[in-house]
Amino acid sequence: MDKKLKNLIFVLNCGSSSIKFAILNPNNEKKYLSGVVECLFLSETYITWQFLGIKYKKKIGSNINHQEAVNFIIDQVLPQEKDIFKNLIGIGHRVVHGGTKIKKTTLIDNNIIQYIEDAVSFAPLHNPANLIGIKIMIEKYPSLAKKNVAVFDTSFYQDMPETSFLYAIPYNFYKEHGIRRYGAHGTSHNYVAHKTSIILNKKFSSLNIITCHLGNGASVSAICNGICVDTSMGLTPLEGLVMGTRSGDLDPSIIFFMNKQLNLNIDEIEMILNKKSGLLGLSGISSDFRYFEKNYNHKKHAKRSVDIFCHRLSKYISAYMSLMENRLDALIFTGGIGENVPLIRELTLSRLSLLGFKIDHKLNLYTIRGKSGLISKSTSRSVFVIATDEELAIAQETSNIISRK
Ligand code: ADP
Repeated sequence: MDKKLKNLIFVLNCGSSSIKFAILNPNNEKKYLSGVVECLFLSETYITWQFLGIKYKKKIGSNINHQEAVNFIIDQVLPQEKDIFKNLIGIGHRVVHGGTKIKKTTLIDNNIIQYIEDAVSFAPLHNPANLIGIKIMIEKYPSLAKKNVAVFDTSFYQDMPETSFLYAIPYNFYKEHGIRRYGAHGTSHNYVAHKTSIILNKKFSSLNIITCHLGNGASVSAICNGICVDTSMGLTPLEGLVMGTRSGDLDPSIIFFMNKQLNLNIDEIEMILNKKSGLLGLSGISSDFRYFEKNYNHKKHAKRSVDIFCHRLSKYISAYMSLMENRLDALIFTGGIGENVPLIRELTLSRLSLLGFKIDHKLNLYTIRGKSGLISKSTSRSVFVIATDEELAIAQETSNIISRK
């Protein structure tokens, strides 16, 4: 066992249909444990994890919920190595929505739990899952109960100008009910933006970039002079790009049509737009990009879905160019799709040649599976793939908050 084990952080990222977790040292970035529970609420829920370099995979059961999955991690995975657990100094939780009251990373107490509950309507698929993780960790590890930290996806967007965050609906909906653009995925956009400033050797405060986080959820952010000035996700993580199962942008009248003409009630429509739309809805087959990559050239529905995905993405990138104050330092791809699917990067950049983007095909094909690097030609605007690490970012923020106390 590593004698220098100290100051370790446990990170719990309870997503809507998966749970990621890790134990790491935020200072030297060494990861002791990392894992993911996938396919919650489906017929077979699996957990895979790596502990000190050894890989494990197990079936947890059928129709497993968040509580059962977190308990499995606590009972079956964490006891594997007690030395590591003894050296935990804090627990970092990803929380998608801070609502109107929470602006930045914070230690969790009863007030904060209440605020996260108050924001459930802004992130109905995510905040309840985040709360389950928080409550279980506080209960099961009383000695660390006061060392639980919430890292919010929405924090990164607090400095957006009102020209970006206000919707053109009566102003009192914002003033009285907090209806505005909040954004999501901020931890990842912020992480890759800081990595970019290191790669480009540029001060963060003068960085002008557009970051595309493309995973099951997907979003684009415009960062100008180190401040996020616009982002594609809105009041909730439903707005913006085409996603795995979420529709992204649509004419709001579609909701009225579904309700009035098709007699679908609001809960059914909410479920359709969040869980049955996006790539899954367009293809009728899958939300997993591996399927689309394999079938793009063979199946019409796969090609159509991917083309719509890239069309929407390139529209956002073009629009965000106008927010860059005369200079774009780089365009960044990250997330499971952004890091691993050269096809998406190629199809998107091919739509942006008028704006000066030219892909380097060799570099594009090479930069997958966790590799970061430039994928554009020397005559192009710079385009990088940068592997995100939300767990590391959460651990670093958690450690900063704890060491300030
Ligand atoms: P999230 O964190 O939002 O759950 P991820 O960032 O893990 O999502 O990305 C998941 C998406 O990335 C899925 O569509 C998955 O198919 C895709 N993906 C991950 N790895 C690969 C790969 N090697 N090849 C193609 N697609 C991949």
